[in-house]
Amino acid sequence: MSDYEEQVVITCVKSLQHCTICEVPPTMQEKLRLKWPLRTHESMKSQVRRQRSQNIDKTDPSWVHPITNFSWAHPYTNIHQAMMMDILHQLYKGVVEYMNSWVNRHFARKRRHRASRGIRDKSFTTMLDYRFKQVPPFTGLKRFHSQRFSKVRQWTGNEYRDMIRQYAVVIAPLIKGEDAGVMLFIRAVLDFVTLSEYHSHTDETLGYLNHALERIDDLKYTLQGTSSDKPINFNFPKFHVLSHYTDFIRYYGSLVNYNSSTQENFHKILLKEYYDRTNKQDNYEEQILKHNTRRVNVQAMQGIISFRSTMRTIDENHSSLDSRSNKLSPTMDLTDYPLTDASRIRLQDLGLSQRSWRLVADIASRLSIDGLIEAVAIFVQEHRARRGPTDDREVSASSSHGRVHKDNLSGFANLPMQLHSSLSCYKFDGKDTRDPNKRTKEIIRCSEDWRNSGSPRCDFVWVQEYGCLDKSTSEVEQIQGRMIGRSILFITVKDVECEPGPDGQFPRYYGTILSMMRLRNKGRAHAIHGMIEFEDSPVPEHTAPKTGRNGKIRCYDIQTVHRSVHAVPARLDDNNRLWYVNNFIDWDSYNTLFNSDWREENKREVKKVKRRLGRQ
Ligand SMILES: [Zn+2]
Repeated sequence: MSDYEEQVVITCVKSLQHCTICEVPPTMQEKLRLKWPLRTHESMKSQVRRQRSQNIDKTDPSWVHPITNFSWAHPYTNIHQAMMMDILHQLYKGVVEYMNSWVNRHFARKRRHRASRGIRDKSFTTMLDYRFKQVPPFTGLKRFHSQRFSKVRQWTGNEYRDMIRQYAVVIAPLIKGEDAGVMLFIRAVLDFVTLSEYHSHTDETLGYLNHALERIDDLKYTLQGTSSDKPINFNFPKFHVLSHYTDFIRYYGSLVNYNSSTQENFHKILLKEYYDRTNKQDNYEEQILKHNTRRVNVQAMQGIISFRSTMRTIDENHSSLDSRSNKLSPTMDLTDYPLTDASRIRLQDLGLSQRSWRLVADIASRLSIDGLIEAVAIFVQEHRARRGPTDDREVSASSSHGRVHKDNLSGFANLPMQLHSSLSCYKFDGKDTRDPNKRTKEIIRCSEDWRNSGSPRCDFVWVQEYGCLDKSTSEVEQIQGRMIGRSILFITVKDVECEPGPDGQFPRYYGTILSMMRLRNKGRAHAIHGMIEFEDSPVPEHTAPKTGRNGKIRCYDIQTVHRSVHAVPARLDDNNRLWYVNNFIDWDSYNTLFNSDWREENKREVKKVKRRLGRQ
């Protein structure tokens, strides 16, 4: 039982004044840190007795409906503890929706104050709509780009979830320094919701949830405005109920299993769909029930089969690792790419199809990418060195840190190459509690004309540049030797200058050409909005002393690509120089992209805000 009004009917408490679970006084509901005695059948009965004997009337804060509750006949239950936490009604339709309206109200009020001093700003709603439009595509993410965000009327659970995944990144540039508290409040709410949706919990994750709750409690007053403004009332049950979340997760486990959007969806599956399969005669209800019984039986059988199969494959984890390695999509048709006579002859000599092969130099000139040939040269040399030195040329090349001399490029420029439009990677999603190492596939795309829109889509990726524990680099710990690059090409190079392998084939190397980005603040997440920032500007020369990769255009083996980055422009103007890494986009990003001292940092920032508000 999950929606508040439904809970009120069943527990007989006073609507909008009472918590269905505990005895919090109506005016104390805003204090999220405080705990109150839980309601029990006994406490309700004695309250009803007291009301009768002392003639307590409805206006009394403790008054409850004087009705004999059906659950009192069941002594082994407590109806008040059966009131489940609910992500859809309490978090999405409750706190998240309120947060959005409070934030909008806060900035509308500021705009009015500024207007009274003669300064005219654009409305916050317009800017928010515009920011939602700016969000680049990400596999599985619903974007609010065709319809204005403020005009969306039909909100389903999925829409709320996708809004939460992009809210921080959308709102961050709209919030100025003096409103740091508002940004911290938004982050606290988003943290709370995101953590509540974990599929499994430990003391540690519940500690984080509690930390988010305390931040919400501390920072809510930042939205109050000045004393002349009408204050926000935080004394309402959907706000107070947040204080019960950690306890209920301890009792009942992950809340995902109790999400009521599943049950609401069942109206569709269990009734409407099966009604169409009946003959609509008198006994149609019986027919629907039979369909349901059969469905449940099939599901039970599926459950048993899936359980048995996971029991068997536990020992085979090593072989399944192979299926997790990154893979390129099929090769692209290069018929439209120009071909010089010399190139045609070379491809013919090598016995390669003109449809899918070109020489490196042809592609570099067709796409006018500066530094492509050098990048491919370093990439090929690295692979040759891995195969073991076979002649003097390679020994000297690897000893000079892989750097390629300009005069030696022509050999690499004449290597045949194929292009691909996407790369599949694997990331953790934290959804399978039986297998925490389970990964889901993610497709990284690079297309000149994305879905015939006329504009390109070149996804950003995390790529491993240094060893994870390489202390010689100046990057901070949580980046773990990774850098961000924007994919320009996915390639296969056939090394026809090399000795063929034992199978008589020339080796093929699979790589991605990236335009490297420069991490701001050495990759440390921002103290207020919590996101890593990067810019599209020349990268420092010293960033890759070991591999010899230099400059902005680099080529990496596809196995060093970790996963995609959901990068969102950090400015409202369109020059796209500065970007945020959206860490709310999925479980994997949320769990890897944070400063190691984030808790202390957060506490410090919250303290500063409280001092400014005078609520020390
Ligand atoms: Zn309560």
